[in-house]
Amino acid sequence: MLVRLRHGLTSGELDPLLALCRDLGYGTRFLDEGRRLLELSGQGDRTHRTRLEDHPDVVEVVAPGDSYELHARGEGRPDTVVQIGSVPLGGGNVAIAAGPCSVEEYERLLILRGGAYKPRTSPYSFQGLGVVGLEMLAAVRDETGISVVTEVLDPRDVERVAEVADWIQIGTRSATNFPLLTEVGLAGKPVLLKRGFGATVREFLLSAEYVLNAGNEDVVLCERGVRSFDSTTRNLLDVGAVAHLAAATHLPVIVDPSHAAGRADLVRPLALAGLVAGADGLIIEVHDDPATARSDGEQAISLDDLRALTLDVQRLVSLDGRVLSELSETSPSHAPNAKEPIQ
Ligand code: PEP
Ligand code: MN
Repeated sequence: MLVRLRHGLTSGELDPLLALCRDLGYGTRFLDEGRRLLELSGQGDRTHRTRLEDHPDVVEVVAPGDSYELHARGEGRPDTVVQIGSVPLGGGNVAIAAGPCSVEEYERLLILRGGAYKPRTSPYSFQGLGVVGLEMLAAVRDETGISVVTEVLDPRDVERVAEVADWIQIGTRSATNFPLLTEVGLAGKPVLLKRGFGATVREFLLSAEYVLNAGNEDVVLCERGVRSFDSTTRNLLDVGAVAHLAAATHLPVIVDPSHAAGRADLVRPLALAGLVAGADGLIIEVHDDPATARSDGEQAISLDDLRALTLDVQRLVSLDGRVLSELSETSPSHAPNAKEPIQ
């Protein structure tokens, strides 16, 4: 493990830190004269990395060595493929989740994503249909065979949501709700974990670690943009993070261009940028009448645009040998606005 230390530490400050490293079972060696780069040799334990990161004299752990955390790719570890209902995601399998921001009406639900419980910034905004929304999702799933992803906000609702959802979403506002992360880790369903809007990549991965550490290996990471100084887009899509995550973790990574852009006209370019950066899939807000959507209508694309984007995605991912999953069980007769089944 390689550890970067604070500048100008005195021997009195260094000695207890070195003693701690030795107590943890490591050999210690400085790699520079300024004694800021400390190499630790020996067998690691995954609890050690955060223990050192939490130390006031440690700036960062540069290379974790063999103290791999559960998300880490490690030596030669293949991509994890998460099976969401009938849809494989990761390891060269690309998938698109699409649907309205909130579950609204039964007939608009012939598509995959939709929030029954909505985390709204204002308590006066539409909060979602709750249990009624879940019942609609369950009915659509039963009728069409389509897989469903929906958000859970409250640890007390996890069991109820898990009964309906093929894939449980943790939204950006809940990314550091650690009891909720542990609870979904125990729910026995794949988890879609969105990056906190103010989370570093490291914090994002540690949120994933909570779910993994509860025994759930089916975690999909979602970059949905972080808060920035510029209001041109709703959030700043961090494609650098996508490229990093694709390399650093074995978990599938998807991109949400809708919440990143906040504008329907930018969804296509951000979606394609995410896939080029290494994302395994997309989650997109789509609405048959965006002007009347009860939430996030300004960023919802039309069904025609979704169809066109799906074809673009198919072409793009085939360039590097990846495949876009088809939802074979969905009967097109149940999707009146779609010529082809859409995931
Ligand atoms: C959503 O996908 O419905 C949502 C609320 O997104 P986020 O948590 O990224 O804001
Ligand atoms: Mn939304």
